[in-house]
Amino acid sequence: MTPMNQFLLVYRKLLSFHGPQGWWPIVNQRSFSGEYHVGAPRGEADFFEISIGAILTQNVAWKNVDAALCRLKRDGLLDPDSLLSVRADRLARLIRSTGYYNEKAKKIKNFLAWYRGHMANYAAISAMDTHALRQELLSVNGIGPETADSILLYALNRPVFVVDAYTKRIFARFGILSGGESYSEIQELFHKHVRPSVGKYNEYHALIVAHGKDFCKKRPSCEQCCIADLCIKRIA
Ligand code: SF4
Repeated sequence: MTPMNQFLLVYRKLLSFHGPQGWWPIVNQRSFSGEYHVGAPRGEADFFEISIGAILTQNVAWKNVDAALCRLKRDGLLDPDSLLSVRADRLARLIRSTGYYNEKAKKIKNFLAWYRGHMANYAAISAMDTHALRQELLSVNGIGPETADSILLYALNRPVFVVDAYTKRIFARFGILSGGESYSEIQELFHKHVRPSVGKYNEYHALIVAHGKDFCKKRPSCEQCCIADLCIKRIA
């Protein structure tokens, strides 16, 4: 079996088992809870909310991010002007549930400064070339490859695969990765073997997160795993 077949086979099996994940969730204006399957990003507001969520979600479970985003939206702060006017220490308190909140508040402020540097012009940012945009996002202090690519894929509909700790763990256990590959080496593998598609990259990353969270955990639940037949590290 070629690596290409394995990448696609894993995708199909994960999709068949877990079903469509509907990422990225957006906070509902009325119920103030994260809502899936809303077809985001629908414009600047979604772009901004998803970008802030991508910054907040590093090293923490999504439910904690959801709580912070709901709070920001309920307080009328989940837009560039409002967040710019909030002091960093107050912002840190508001996003406390996401952990590393002082650092994350600074990262949000850095992202806002970058956005303001583009005249907060969503249309102009949307029209930028993907490579140039990625380089710019990576130049923002505190935004690394995973966050930049999450913004590109989920907030701006660019066909860029997002690599995270679950991707590394699952595909290393599979034997496709040795475990020592860099972020960009892993991303290149996905770009090479899974034809660029916003929809497929969106779904694949979300499925990997779902599977890593519920099955391929630090102590994996191999007996219930839908891709165990392909995995060299399965625990019988
Ligand atoms: S069989 Fe076990 S180690 Fe392999 S992918 Fe599934 S849960 Fe992870």
